Amino acid sequence: MFQDLSSKLDDAFQKLKGESKITDVNIAETVREIRRALLDADVNYEVAKEFTNDIKERAMGEDVLSAVNPGQQFTKVVHDELTQILGQERVDLSVAHTPPTVILIAGLQGSGKTTFSAKLAKYLKEENNRNPILAAADVYRPAAINQLKTLADTIDTPVYSIDQKDAVRVAKEAVAMAKSLALDTVIIDTAGRMHVDEKMMNEVAEIKEAVQPDETLFIVDSMTGQDAVNTAKEFNETINYDGVVLTKLDGDTRGGAALSIKNVVQKPIKFVSTGEKLDALSPFYPERMSQRILGMGDVVSLVEKAQKEFDEKEAQELQKKIKSDSFDLEDFYEQLQQVKSMGNISDLVGMIPGAGKALQDADAELDEDSFKPIEAIICSMTPEEKHNPEILNATRKRRIAKGSGTRVSDINDLLKQFEQMKKMMKSFSGMGKLGQMMQGMK
Ligand code: GDP
Repeated sequence: MFQDLSSKLDDAFQKLKGESKITDVNIAETVREIRRALLDADVNYEVAKEFTNDIKERAMGEDVLSAVNPGQQFTKVVHDELTQILGQERVDLSVAHTPPTVILIAGLQGSGKTTFSAKLAKYLKEENNRNPILAAADVYRPAAINQLKTLADTIDTPVYSIDQKDAVRVAKEAVAMAKSLALDTVIIDTAGRMHVDEKMMNEVAEIKEAVQPDETLFIVDSMTGQDAVNTAKEFNETINYDGVVLTKLDGDTRGGAALSIKNVVQKPIKFVSTGEKLDALSPFYPERMSQRILGMGDVVSLVEKAQKEFDEKEAQELQKKIKSDSFDLEDFYEQLQQVKSMGNISDLVGMIPGAGKALQDADAELDEDSFKPIEAIICSMTPEEKHNPEILNATRKRRIAKGSGTRVSDINDLLKQFEQMKKMMKSFSGMGKLGQMMQGMK
């Protein structure tokens, strides 16, 4: 996501790199390019204009003029401004004083409401130890109710639904049900239409009135660009929601919706969804997103994600092995499995500073399949060979190639990469926690 915008911004910054200070003249071109990059990314015209005027003004400010390195200073100015238009601070979901907390989900059909409802249930269960119930208030489409039930089954979450086409009743009864079962959260999935229509809006407004949710979330498909922003405006006028969820940020989106919505509706983005799988959901942090757009790498997210997956003790063991040079192909194989279990691999690589751009330059597509030949090669080795790859002579390599359905040159490539990786990991060791976490990612 945002790759095109990131590289255009990077090009714009290059213009300032060789300058000794920021002046009216040299900044004008850079600012023009930034505005063009934003408009190309489908950012709302007014937002782009305000953005570039602000950065120009700030960059010309006194503190910036005294800067040693104008390129870096200017990147910081853009970073701060981006963070601001993305919402500045993370805004959490509201929680009811007296349970259950009621969360109403609204948006157009196909925006990803049902998928998000299940994702949110999973997220709240895992991250906040909550016990949610899902309410199937998309009563017009039996397929939607079934979809919700199927998703809910995979995360062991109850769904409340009835046979009548009465969305308000479903919502009210689900809340009553939650109270009687002592469940602390109700997530209400509502019906959407292809386009904004009055009847749909009224229904969501009626549900809102009837159950007085603690949180109303507007779900929007970020691939719809400027339309996303217009729909967000219309929904906000009728139901006055509390937060926005951007879905399909994994798709071919230029990012314009993400960058414009907060400014246009003055409501925070609370989550972003980046895939169909139920774990493809992230709480939204404006600053991290801005760092990511600027190619600074979302190190904080990376570390958090890594921390969740890597057992502290395991990390220490790994550290010891690296230091004593005993990290072998067996360990490497285990690391690969852990990286795979962490979700979308391209996404993870994109979070490593510098790697996102490298990946994009190489036009590489990383997915779980990319690791298959490596896994096959390692699995065809004897324990001794895994531990001691130096013993791999031509005969052994031919045997392994045959067993794994690869070529001897693939094995040589892997061994070369493994050696390079070991060296890199060693240079990371001693960097403390962050270094340890990063090692796992390599
Ligand atoms: P609803 O009509 O608003 O309830 O939308 P659904 O939850 O049924 O989603 C519509 C389609 O979009 C489904 O095929 C989902 O699998 C897909 N979808 C939802 N969220 C995402 C996402 O973040 N990324 C991608 N690629 N697809 C998504």
